[in-house]
Amino acid sequence: MNQASPDRYYNYDDLTRLLHDWAARFPNLLRLESIGRSYEGRDIWLASVTDFSAGPDHEKPALWVDGNIHSAELCGSTACLVLLHRLLHDGASDPKLRQVLAQRSFYVCPRVNPDGAEWALASPPKLTRSSIRPYPYDEEPIGGLKVEDVDGDGRILTMRIPDPNGPWKICPDEPRLLIPREPTESDGEYFRLLPEGTFDNFDGYTMKPQAKKERLDLNRNFPGLWREEHEQPGAGAYPASESEVRAVVDFIARHTNIGAGIALHSYSGAFLRPYSYQSDDSFIADDRWIYEKIGAKATELTGYPAVSAYHDFRYHPNEIITGALDDWLYDSRGLFAWTVEIWSPQRQAGITDFRLFDWYRNHPHDDDRKLLAWSDRTLGENGYVDWYPFNHPQLGKIALGGWQPLFSFWNPPQPLLAKEVSPIVDWLIWHAQLLPRLDWLDVTATPIGHNVYRLHAVAQNRGWLPTYISKVGLRKKLSRGVTFEITPPANVNILEGDRRIVATELEGRANKNCAPFGWAAVGVDPTDDRVGASWIVSAPAGSTITVSASHERAGTIRREITL
Ligand SMILES: [Zn+2]
Repeated sequence: MNQASPDRYYNYDDLTRLLHDWAARFPNLLRLESIGRSYEGRDIWLASVTDFSAGPDHEKPALWVDGNIHSAELCGSTACLVLLHRLLHDGASDPKLRQVLAQRSFYVCPRVNPDGAEWALASPPKLTRSSIRPYPYDEEPIGGLKVEDVDGDGRILTMRIPDPNGPWKICPDEPRLLIPREPTESDGEYFRLLPEGTFDNFDGYTMKPQAKKERLDLNRNFPGLWREEHEQPGAGAYPASESEVRAVVDFIARHTNIGAGIALHSYSGAFLRPYSYQSDDSFIADDRWIYEKIGAKATELTGYPAVSAYHDFRYHPNEIITGALDDWLYDSRGLFAWTVEIWSPQRQAGITDFRLFDWYRNHPHDDDRKLLAWSDRTLGENGYVDWYPFNHPQLGKIALGGWQPLFSFWNPPQPLLAKEVSPIVDWLIWHAQLLPRLDWLDVTATPIGHNVYRLHAVAQNRGWLPTYISKVGLRKKLSRGVTFEITPPANVNILEGDRRIVATELEGRANKNCAPFGWAAVGVDPTDDRVGASWIVSAPAGSTITVSASHERAGTIRREITL
């Protein structure tokens, strides 16, 4: 495994070996821990990455990155592994990256849902939305269509069933494709489409998919605006009821140095930002403007649009999503958070002008031809399968064929994986550098009498984001100001000033306008990125005092000063 490439689809055992191998080879850069166990008892791995020789991870501002909370969205795991590989292998040679690792931490959870991913990677794949825990009923489903590989070729395809009342007909120009039957059309050859499978207790005419035994969606189980089952199916019994979600929530809540969080999903080729459940009219404008700047960089690097989930990524215009990780991170934790939907088969096929979900409901037939041509060129046997006759044990003469979505629509095929995730990794590393970061401007001790000194410490925020990260965080008082503390030895007396002084939050540069028009109030640059504290102490000359400045989001710095 020593030369293992990160850009392939790893099963759980290989993923575990790879992470342990990296932890053993790069002990100064990567520490691996299990943050919890999945429903089936698999460890959920978390890699803390930073230059540990330059300080512990929790004393530096950090970026959270996770992948594969949804079972079949395997390329999210890959992007995490490519990020880790980049940090570990280029961290020593690239001066910029070396600086990033000295000043920031990365918390990377490559596979939040290892059970579901293991099912997706099985042959044939067993596809479920996320957790494999039976929910809401722990019972075997009865009746309906059981999705399975009926002809034993290792694939789950689509059944094309001849039916005079079917909604589809064969496209006259391209017989591999199906097109809708016209509203008034009759007397032709029509078809009904269903996933490959067999019917439990088949009555000869009822064809509907069997209710799934596993109906959880882990990305509806986060706290914040979690909703009950009757409002949002699959959200779980209570917020963070699922062990995988609890592991993530608990880790993030304990690591207040996390200033941004990115959840890697697939597919669509889009950067989604909060809110999922309300319009931008409810967004704090200053935060939205920062989101737009971060999103513009994401688009520049990847070509993916950066959009509001509510406005541009709703499965149905009358429905909303709540209980997603990014909404919890932004609205309850005050962090800038995104859901990245990696990969767009449409764009691969040359379809550029489309609205993400509306496209499925309605798009030009020519788009289907473009996708088919792209599949023929690029995917071969893993993409669109031409229809072939099959004698189904219950349905008789049907055909099998159509899209195999797992490594065509839902994830990039292996050869395109590295190219697709690489610019996303560029953006993740860029994003980590936006976080606020405390640094000293000055620490001095001035004698003002016999064995009496005035200590003065000034800290500054050298990051782009303010220490409080977002206005929603500021409004909710999710962090306190920069906190100064002195640790004097026993022979030092503090005459004036508290040992611990909580000062103000510090601004960054993120709220500045695009040009310096000096007559507007926003055009002046007050030193709101600096704050100081002072003490008067009495101590014998030569005594050493440690001064620290810390902030939950912006890190901890220390300076020893000898009187
Ligand atoms: Zn997803």
